[in-house]
Amino acid sequence: MSEASKVEVISHEPATGAEIWRGPVCEVDEVVSRARRAWPGWAAQPLSTRMELVRRFANEVRKDAEKLATTIAREVGKPLWEAHAEVEQVINKVEVSIRAYAERTSQRKLDSALQGTMAVRHKPHGVLVVLGPYNYPAHLPNAHIVPALIAGNVVIFKPSEKAPASGEILARCFNRAGISAAVMQFAVGGPPEGQALISHDGVDGVLFTGSANTGIAINRRLATRPDKMVALEMGGNNAMVVWDTPKLTDAAALIVQSAFATTGQRCTATRRLIVKNSMYDAVISEVKSLADRLIFGAPFDEPSPFMGPVIDNAAADGLSESFLYLMSNGGKAIKHLVRPDESLPFLSPAIIDTTAMKDRPDVELFGPILQIIRVHDFDEAIAETNNTRFGLAASLIGGTPPEYNKFWANARAGIVNWNRATVNPNHAAPIGGIGLSGNHRPTGYYAADYCAYPVASGEMEQPRAMIGVGLR
Ligand code: NAD
Repeated sequence: MSEASKVEVISHEPATGAEIWRGPVCEVDEVVSRARRAWPGWAAQPLSTRMELVRRFANEVRKDAEKLATTIAREVGKPLWEAHAEVEQVINKVEVSIRAYAERTSQRKLDSALQGTMAVRHKPHGVLVVLGPYNYPAHLPNAHIVPALIAGNVVIFKPSEKAPASGEILARCFNRAGISAAVMQFAVGGPPEGQALISHDGVDGVLFTGSANTGIAINRRLATRPDKMVALEMGGNNAMVVWDTPKLTDAAALIVQSAFATTGQRCTATRRLIVKNSMYDAVISEVKSLADRLIFGAPFDEPSPFMGPVIDNAAADGLSESFLYLMSNGGKAIKHLVRPDESLPFLSPAIIDTTAMKDRPDVELFGPILQIIRVHDFDEAIAETNNTRFGLAASLIGGTPPEYNKFWANARAGIVNWNRATVNPNHAAPIGGIGLSGNHRPTGYYAADYCAYPVASGEMEQPRAMIGVGLR
């Protein structure tokens, strides 16, 4: 064993600080050569076999659902009910991906009597590295892995170094389903292993979900490698606009869900609430009183909490500093960010009006902090929605159909909703963003597109040709 392989990844439960998992980082060269050896065999399997095997995987997840949900809840701190919902998403992804493969990357043939056939078929890339984030440690890597396997790629799955225990259970479900540990490899590591894997000559592409900074680092590292498929799903500084609506209670529920579900650790979470001036008092008081009622606590607490801790103390420290920064630069706290125990990463939901702030930092605050911005007309609301380098999700609550049409046409985001939360994107639709939120390779239903490349083939049974002009 080399020195490098003795380095360990250790994962801790955010709610208690207790160690939950440890293991050595992977040997990148070994992992990649195992994958390369396995690829031809996997790609040669009939599509029906690969589909059957991912369906078996879904059954293995069903059998392990309790264990996987409990581990997710412990390892990333989300409430048990929410971890169960994540496991359901893992299972549901299989049928959606099978449909998506058939619809987005199926074979097409255009026949013509004289010119033979023009066929469009798709081929897998080869060895794909999947880099997972911690906030959905099973569902989001899985959203790349399943379509990649169906398309005939082999996968090296490196879970977040903050969530290897959940990743390992997921990986074992694939392996027990009959997808070998070479075809779907579990590779432990942090950023150094991530870098080494994506740069490796034996790797054909990277399917990444994580922060914009990491996505940019990956893009930069692979700038001279146009041969590699790079799919980047990154964060957002998402806006929700509240316009005229009589349904304040529903609006508040959508706002609170969007801002504080998963303790604000969702890529699609609403970070900025843009409110029509005349609605401001009514909306804010409704949102505040609902946020005041949210229970935050440990994943297995009874009654169930709405939200758990953030991932670790470093994240809680960073969010506390950010909140102080907003306050000391013109922000007006409506509901303070409270950390009841400085030694643990539990944070209360927080709301701050940053309307008066000059140069609001355009960063993703990945936690339970909602900024409020007051505007006077609809054009200003749209301008404020787009006042970000990111472009993942945007929602309009209330307003008329023409206002929604205008919002839809002008909001620069990959997900634009009306009277719906920004969170909970539907995997039967594309999920991705523009700007710093992604590189135009959305996941969800469109994951099929980046898991295979199209091959155009003009085909005739016999050669038949002549030179029409220019002959002596
Ligand atoms: P992260 O960027 O810190 O890490 C993601 C993965 O990349 C990890 O596996 C990590 O080890 C690896 N990594 C880190 N640096 C690397 C490098 N230089 N080269 C190669 N690999 C590297 O993200 P995170 O903190 O785990 O996740 C939270 C982020 O993910 C948030 O920004 C959130 O918005 C984003 N996210 C996006 C989506 C989406 O679909 N767009 C979904 C969920 C989360």
